[in-house]
Amino acid sequence: MRILVIGSGGREHALVWKLQQSPYADRIFCAPGNAGTGEIAENIPVRASDLQALVSFAKENRVDLTVVGPDDPLAAGIIDLFAAEKLRAFGPDKSAARIESSKVFAKELMRAHKIPTAEARTFSDSNEALRYCEQMKFPLVIKADGLALGKGVIIAGDSATARATIDEMMNQHRFGDAGRRIVIEEFLQGTECSMHALVDGKHYVLLESARDHKRALDGDQGPNTGGMGAVSPANNWNSELQSQFEAQIMQPVLRSLLEKGVTFRGLLYPGLIVTGDGLRVLEFNCRFGDPETQALLPRMKSDLLPLLEATIDGNIDKCAIEWDARAAVTVVLASTGYPGKYETGKSISGLDHAAELENVQIFHAGTKRDGDQVKTAGGRVLAVTALGATIEAARARAYEAVSCICFEKCHYRRDIALNAVADNVTEL
Ligand code: AMP
Repeated sequence: MRILVIGSGGREHALVWKLQQSPYADRIFCAPGNAGTGEIAENIPVRASDLQALVSFAKENRVDLTVVGPDDPLAAGIIDLFAAEKLRAFGPDKSAARIESSKVFAKELMRAHKIPTAEARTFSDSNEALRYCEQMKFPLVIKADGLALGKGVIIAGDSATARATIDEMMNQHRFGDAGRRIVIEEFLQGTECSMHALVDGKHYVLLESARDHKRALDGDQGPNTGGMGAVSPANNWNSELQSQFEAQIMQPVLRSLLEKGVTFRGLLYPGLIVTGDGLRVLEFNCRFGDPETQALLPRMKSDLLPLLEATIDGNIDKCAIEWDARAAVTVVLASTGYPGKYETGKSISGLDHAAELENVQIFHAGTKRDGDQVKTAGGRVLAVTALGATIEAARARAYEAVSCICFEKCHYRRDIALNAVADNVTEL
């Protein structure tokens, strides 16, 4: 098979890395890819946002399967465009992708089907939103309706922050159309967990649990980022939570989408929080997580390619996924300043040395090849994953590999998976 993977992050490198191990994969293209995907696949100079060029490439190069990494092309309807040209592609169509691209849509779906989530109200008028905040207790969580590169969620600790946030989103259009409507919801206390599911419309198969670390700095301080590290399995997860998750969240979500005439085919991953009152949905994502994918795929023993095909063909219920019992820890190396301003073009050394360590896999994100050198080219630069018999062992090995790698103005968290080691499972 000829496969095209769309995107240029660590998630896409992990997808390419996993797919190229399949005996069914002949040739893999990555658009636009990074220095890491360029080593194991053919990078093509087409951006993930250039939907027409991607369709043309797939047609002209007789691509058998396209796998879409990021959320934006899904929200923009890339799957619908591919389908119109009879091209096979993995991911939800535009109407199903709304579960991620519109927080209002997701909230209404959850409310209508009593799926446990934070109490929330939706506003399209800033004065109404301001009046509502005046009656409420803080902290409150204010969310832009649409996609905002992970920056559209603000936890307002007081009314001054809430007022400024509402004004920025709704009046100053900081996120453009994405902030035309907002959701204001109660702040939930607990530990977070990501569950990934391959969904074929009617059925689903769960992947292993994972946790990511969203804040930029140690001790969960600093701004929210795309993710600074991950661990799988999540140690705040257990079989009781899993049963609750399937009965109260996964099954009703799929039923309610079908009732609306929406067929979700692709990867659905609800971001969850385990609170003292049980499990709650924070958000739905309609694609593989980044950096969760970099922790999950090294643990997946099964071939990913037939799983993606079964998802598209509607028979994922016939599939089971085999997992490595070992734990995986992923540490993200970023450019200092990320998620704000940062410099690029710094030479990276030590990659080969780090890759020689046993049970270590290095996934590239913002990297670029420049002659015989690899240079930084983005905010998140690398994701270093290690497997180990325990989370502690995986963590130690991941940081050993990180210590081999060097570039100017490199920043990474020192406490990835440390809370996973210390946290207790929340008693329900
Ligand atoms: P979202 O994009 O909705 O997942 O929000 C991004 C992050 O904001 C989540 O991973 C949580 O860390 C935090 N968050 C979102 N909603 C809430 C909430 N209701 N209570 C507490 N934290 C939240």
